[in-house]
Parts: sequence; structure tokens; C-alpha cells
Amino acid sequence: MADIKKADRKLKYWGWGYEDAGLDGDQTKALLATFADGFGINPSRDGAFPTLDAIELPKCRLEAPASLEDVCTDDKFERVYHAFGQSQPDSLRTYAGDFDHAPDIVAFPETERHIAEIYEWAGKTNAAVIPWGAGSSVVGGVTSDVGSKYNGVISVDMGRMNKVLEVDEVSRAARIQGGALGPDLEAQLKPHGLTLRHFPQSFQHSTFGGWIATRSGGHFATLYTHIDDLVEATTTVTPAGDIVSRRLPGSGAGPSPDRFVALGSEGALGIITEGWARLQGRPTYKATAGYRFTDFFDAARAVRAVSQAGLYPANVRIVDGTELQVNGAGDGSFTLMVVSFESADHPVDAWMERAEECCLDHGGTVDVPWRDNPDAHLQGAVGAWRTAFIRMPYNREQLTPRGIISDTFETAITWDRFEEFYGAIKDATQSAIRDVTGHDGAVSCRFSHAYPDGPAPYFAFHAPGDPQNMLAQWQELKTRASDALIKHGGTITHHHAVGRDHQKWYEQQRPALFGDVIGDAKKRLDPKGVLNPGVIVG
Ligand SMILES: Cc1cc2nc3c(=O)[nH]c(=O)nc-3n(C[C@H](O)[C@H](O)[C@H](O)COP(=O)(O)OP(=O)(O)OC[C@H]3O[C@@H](n4cnc5c(N)ncnc54)[C@H](O)[C@@H]3O)c2cc1C
Repeated sequence: MADIKKADRKLKYWGWGYEDAGLDGDQTKALLATFADGFGINPSRDGAFPTLDAIELPKCRLEAPASLEDVCTDDKFERVYHAFGQSQPDSLRTYAGDFDHAPDIVAFPETERHIAEIYEWAGKTNAAVIPWGAGSSVVGGVTSDVGSKYNGVISVDMGRMNKVLEVDEVSRAARIQGGALGPDLEAQLKPHGLTLRHFPQSFQHSTFGGWIATRSGGHFATLYTHIDDLVEATTTVTPAGDIVSRRLPGSGAGPSPDRFVALGSEGALGIITEGWARLQGRPTYKATAGYRFTDFFDAARAVRAVSQAGLYPANVRIVDGTELQVNGAGDGSFTLMVVSFESADHPVDAWMERAEECCLDHGGTVDVPWRDNPDAHLQGAVGAWRTAFIRMPYNREQLTPRGIISDTFETAITWDRFEEFYGAIKDATQSAIRDVTGHDGAVSCRFSHAYPDGPAPYFAFHAPGDPQNMLAQWQELKTRASDALIKHGGTITHHHAVGRDHQKWYEQQRPALFGDVIGDAKKRLDPKGVLNPGVIVG
């Protein structure tokens, strides 16, 4: 089997990103002090992680056929690294050294032919195939734990199919391979003066194909919220053949192949090897402002006013007092609203003026002014929140091994039901934390995206766990919060996808007959049922 060349910077198998990136000693101390002083959440363990030597892996059960030998490996690091994504249970199991389910083989296909051969091999040996973009799934989408029905697991890492293959500067679109990471595809678009500008928080370690497969949400808080809006055409390689859609700016010809087979397919119907994406000019006009509200619902009403005014800001996020406090960006006494506009074509002052009126009309006061202030995004609570947001992905690797449960979930709801919904979800999560941990913990909320007909609230919760029982505690908290989302009319996910963790609630949310249709499509495209078992199709 191939001796897969290691990248210069090693990725962590126990946390986020590269081994040399993360919180330093002072930042970790500050994080733990915020939890202890603000919420009485104290560490119960030391923060150690299992070394690679200490991890025991079961024997590899598969042998790659000769034609795939050069792109397959059973290297220990690769098997460990591809065993989990980035969810809270993934992290808990990593720190517990629970790697019995690690994939037998990690494949790095370079061509669509390789992928077809992997399907053939998996079908013959009854192995499961788990498509892997960069493994940033927070819902168990790449967790290779598929049960005992399969004779092995092949994780298919798309990292070698990572090029921008073509740029159409006239229509402003590019043909991009599925395995291209965010920074790599932007670097390849830059010489053309164009950008995809799809920036999920996981941008650095997630891929174009992964974004399409999960219908990811980027930094645009309105208008182009999901990758869906930026996808022009897709190529999906399935065990039954390839599905290649036509490049079109729009089409009314029946159900869309992109939406039916690629967007939201989460590796269960095929592997997205490439797609055409709509691009934009790089923005030259930008403005940001921050407003404080004493009442969270006033801030929400201001967001509604902006969203319904036809303004479409790039950013219109509110962050409640607890969320600011947990992240060291506020004292818990106010909600922050951040508003930004950007354009490659025209000044944005008129839009900023109107958005400011909406904020002031609803009781907001200026925290950071925007006029003649190009550094507004770095100032005041806006700047403090931005710094915290950049560090956030690294927090969990300091909290989980210290016995602190830390997770997020996101949803969407129409404005008419928002206030009642918000109260119900917060109460359900808060009381679950009390019942499960005997502690108040911290439950917070922000809006990640906003639409004219409703917001996408994003909740976070933190609580001291019982080190011997944290996985079961997390499962109970997740179950009660998810039950509440479905019961009160929200979606089980606005942009984090379904994965294994949300499957039960996705099945409750989607119409039953539609579930049957997806099941039938799966049987047609993946007749041997090798692709990502347990995801999308139960
Ligand atoms: C710190 C952090 C921040 C995050 N922020 C955001 C955010 O702002 N917005 C957001 O939407 N999500 C966010 N996520 C979740 C995650 O980054 C997204 O779901 C992302 O789209 C996954 O991309 P990936 O390339 O890492 O895919 P993976 O995690 O590798 O895979 C995700 C799913 O897609 C499937 N898949 C991957 N590639 C392909 C392919 N080429 N063809 C078919 N199926 C494929 C996998 O089988 C799996 O089911 C965040 C995650 C973390 C850890």
C-alpha cells in the first residue's frame, strides 16, 4: 500500500486544525477563568489527550486492489485522523481513546476512475465508503462507526482533487474540484480578481465538495446564505454512474439534479467530484457598525426590520449577553448587533444609513460607529466578538478533556413564532442541563443568518460534565434540545447538516413520503448500500 506523503504542517487528530495552531497558555487560562468566574463551571480533569502510540487500532480488514494501491493507505495516523469529525461526541470519544471503529483504509483518489474503482471494490467486499472532505462535520457525518453489518470501512479523502480547473471571467463562474479547501480555492481564484466569498467559520479546513454535500452556510448573513445559492452545476460520481448537470444561470426544467443528488446529499448518494460555482468581484467598499440593546427581543426586531427592508447586509448578527460573556466580549448586560455591507461596485453608505435607522428605531445605541471608520470591525464589542469568533474553533480541545461539555446547535424559524420558540428552546436546554448535571451551566444564542421571513438562531451550551459519563450526559442534552426544536416547529439544522447525530430528527422533520423517495433514489444510485450508511437514509 502507498506510503502517503505527509504534509509539512501536521493536522491534529484530537482537535481543530494544525498541531501548531490553537490557544496559547494565557488564552487557555483566560477561557477557563471566564467559565469559572462567570458561570461556576470548573475543570475536573487535566486536559491531556491520548498520544498516537497509546491508541490501539483493530487490525486492518481490507486489502486494496492493485489498481488502487498507490492511492490507499492503512497508515496509523491516517486511520486515527479519519475516524472522527469535529462533533462533541467525536471529541469525547477521541479523548477516551475509542478508536475500535477506525476506517481500515484511507483512500486519496486522484481521478473519477479511482472513485468508481473504490465503489466496485467496496461492493465486492461489502465495505462501507465514507466520503471525506476535510472532516469538519459537527454532526457525525464522517464518523466511521457503521456497525457490524460491513466487512470494513474505506474513508475516501478528496484532498488530492483540489484544483480550480477553469474560470469563466465573462459569466463569473469557476469549475472547482470537490476536494479544494477554502483557502486553496480562493488562492486559485485571486489572480482572476474574483472570489467565491463563501466563508463558513470552518473555511480553513473544509472543502468545496463538503460545502455542497452539507449545504453549508457562509459569512453572508442574508441573500447568499447557503452554498446552494452559489452552485451553478455539479458532477456527482455514484456507484450507478455519473450525474453531470448543465451549466445554467437558472432553469425551470423539472426538479433540479443539483438539488436532488448533490446539495445536501452528505456522501450518501455519491461523491461530488467537481462543480461550477458563481463568483463575485472582490469587495472594495465595506462598512461595519455595532449597536447595543438592553433587550434581546428588541435586537431581534431590529434584525427583522433590516431583513424586511430589502437591504441584504453581508452581516446582520445579534449576539446575546451570555454568548458575549462566555466569549469574553461582554459583561452579560447587553445584546450586540453587528451590521456590515460590502460591494465591489458601489459605496454602501446609503444602506448603512437605513440599517442604522432600523437599529435606533428599536432602541439600539451605537457601540461602534461606521462613518469614516474603516477599522470599525476591530473596535469595541464588535472587535472583541470578532477575535473570540476566530479563536472559538480551538476552545473545545481545551474544554472537553477538562470535563466541560460544550456544544452548539442551530435552527431557523419564522418571525411570527420566533419569540415563543426562543423561550421554549432556551428553557428546554436549560432544564435539561440542570436535570443531567445538577448545574445551571450556560445557554446562549446568536443569529447566524436572517431572512425576510425569519432568523436562524444559533444556540450554544456549556456545563460541567461527569468525566465518567460525559458521552451519555451529552446525548441526553442533545436529545432534549433536538426534541424541543422539532416540537416547536423549527428545523433540526439550518446549516450544520444531518449526519448521524441528527438523522432521527431529520426523519421527523421531512415528510414521510419524501423520505421514501430519497430511499428509492439511494437504492437506484447505491444499490449495494455502501455509501455513508446511516446518513440521510436511515
Ligand atoms: C469550527 C467549525 C466551524 C464550523 N462552521 C460552519 C459554518 O460556519 N457553516 C457551516 O455550514 N458549517 C460549519 N461547520 C460544519 C462543517 O464545516 C460543514 O459542514 C462543512 O461544509 C463540511 O465540509 P468538509 O469539507 O469538512 O466536509 P466533511 O466534514 O469531510 O464531510 C461532511 C459531509 O459531507 C460528505 N462529503 C464531504 N465531501 C464530499 C464530497 N466531495 N462528495 C459527497 N459527499 C461529501 C461527508 O461524507 C459528510 O457526510 C463548522 C465546523 C467546525 C468544526
